[in-house]
Amino acid sequence: RKPIEKSVDDIIEGLLSRDRTMLSRAITLIESNAGRHKKPAEEMLQRLLPLSGDSIRIGITGVPGAGKSTFIEAFGLLLCNKGHRVAVLAVDPSSTLHGGSILGDKTRMERLANHPNAFIRPSPSGGTLGGVHRKTRETIIACEAAGYDVLLIETVGVGQSEVMVRGMVDFFMLLVLTGAGDELQGMKKGIMELADAIIVNKADGRNLELAKKTQREYKQILHFLKPATKGWTTPALTCSALYQEGIDEVWEMVLRYMKLTKESGLFFENRQIQAKEWLYAQIKEQLESSFFGNDKVKTLVPEIEKKVMDGEMTVTKASGLLFDVFYDK
Ligand code: GDP
Repeated sequence: RKPIEKSVDDIIEGLLSRDRTMLSRAITLIESNAGRHKKPAEEMLQRLLPLSGDSIRIGITGVPGAGKSTFIEAFGLLLCNKGHRVAVLAVDPSSTLHGGSILGDKTRMERLANHPNAFIRPSPSGGTLGGVHRKTRETIIACEAAGYDVLLIETVGVGQSEVMVRGMVDFFMLLVLTGAGDELQGMKKGIMELADAIIVNKADGRNLELAKKTQREYKQILHFLKPATKGWTTPALTCSALYQEGIDEVWEMVLRYMKLTKESGLFFENRQIQAKEWLYAQIKEQLESSFFGNDKVKTLVPEIEKKVMDGEMTVTKASGLLFDVFYDK
């Protein structure tokens, strides 16, 4: 056997024996940009696919400070203590856009990270891993094959990444703070329409009354929105991630949702649609990278771009010219 094939075998064996270090290695292989890792990563994923899927994939979003880390730690610990195996992944738009990370660093959620039933994949911090391409869907497959049955996928509430995460999960929750009125401006409403639950966090101490009021306001608003999932009435709950109150209720709600959507078949239907969308997303990504990675395109782009910016060439003509060199016409 060639060495790399041997290591794919080793990694798979490691995953099956629930070795967290091997899971980290699998994800590193998945995320690698090195050409020589492409085939082994593909082979590994193809072999892991039949072992994946038996899980609940939960997306969690909210503005910075909403309490996502605190909530995930409390929620994750609760589930680990119930015997679940919990993997936490982060989709961090900031790490690719600006090199910084909104979603904190490796020291987050220490108590959860130390639990034997938990796996936390840290997000690349401070741009030191610049260029790391998060392959969240592939990573989900690897985690599930390694026996994690609850996937918590965190993303920060800044727009694009929520739509992406919504397309990867079974259940999507939005963590909010008190003062629904302010939250509801602009695109927040769009995000609400993606959510299967709105959770008003920090419902504790002097904030409790206001949190209850906010919950009522959200309920009213939800009444007028189309639910994200057919047949499911999106609830608004309150919790205190810090004092671990209302967390069990969140899990019970997720279980209700699972039961409902599995009985109706919607759960499986959604996953099928998501797999199809994944295919097309992958094709688009590959087309884009082969287009912009093409040497002739790369040489021509600056000149064409300038002409378009100076109003000397139409966009139609410009993109046409680039495609001509791409297709070698
Ligand atoms: P993130 O940016 O959404 O991940 O938010 P964090 O989990 O880092 O929380 C932001 C701040 O809010 C921290 O100081 C937390 O201790 C605090 N916090 C989080 N959840 C609660 C809660 O339920 N109650 C209170 N009082 N504070 C909380």
